[in-house]
Amino acid sequence: DLAARVTGAVKIYGSGEAEVRALDGVSLGFTAGRFTAIMGPSGSGKSTLMHCAAGLDTLTSGTAHIGGTELGTLTDRQLTLLRRERVGFVFQSFNLVPTLTVAENIRLPRDLAGRRADTEFTDALIDVVGLRDRLHHRPGELSGGQQQRVAVARAFAGEPDVVFADEPTGNLDSRSGEEVLRLLGDAVRQMNRTVVMVTHDPVAAAHADEVVFLADGRLVDRMASPTPQGVL
Ligand code: ADP
Ligand code: ADP
Repeated sequence: DLAARVTGAVKIYGSGEAEVRALDGVSLGFTAGRFTAIMGPSGSGKSTLMHCAAGLDTLTSGTAHIGGTELGTLTDRQLTLLRRERVGFVFQSFNLVPTLTVAENIRLPRDLAGRRADTEFTDALIDVVGLRDRLHHRPGELSGGQQQRVAVARAFAGEPDVVFADEPTGNLDSRSGEEVLRLLGDAVRQMNRTVVMVTHDPVAAAHADEVVFLADGRLVDRMASPTPQGVL
């Protein structure tokens, strides 16, 4: 059961002399209920793969699916709705709305999707991320680690098919980073969510169930995480 997948994914930026083949025929499925890490050196195509798999960017050729929906068949408007309703994002730079409180930021995906908040689920989420005493603060009043925990709660709040995290610990000290990684792992193992995380950090990747490796836009290896589940 795949939450998302790409098949024969090719992405070419630019043309002629300046052409860059960022993805060179990647086929990869993301199993529902699992935490997958995408690793590889800088420039290997990790972010491009994530952006194309998540519907933030389009492939030059090949297909990308979220659940049973092929992204290439959607209009821009439909793609925006799909991202809102079925995909969650965590970015390196937190990307919270500075004028909204923590509670409002967490509820935002559901509000945008026009869905009523599932109070019980949102409540559980707030406790999991440990932000109950910060609900009425604004992002500027929080540490980086706290802001990223809000971003993690927001990513899961709409109960998406899959959450994509792009270097989620890149702007955090190691202790805050560990907390964010543990939260992503808890969401997968305790709430049966699906996470795909791009990282160049092996310590971060060790929190995943499975690690895939890219080099020069190709999938070169795929293995179970070297660290057994539950040890971290
Ligand atoms: P990674 O995330 O592994 O660092 P990227 O997916 O960001 O790799 O980049 C893969 C390749 O595509 C690199 O050679 C990069 O320079 C190139 N690239 C990425 N985005 C663009 C873009 N918008 N325009 C041109 N080249 C790009
Ligand atoms: P950077 O790593 O350069 O700080 P980010 O990882 O924050 O960039 O964002 C990567 C890309 O995703 C950017 O092009 C940004 O515009 C886009 N993006 C960021 N947040 C969202 C969002 N919530 N929904 C859709 N696209 C987003």
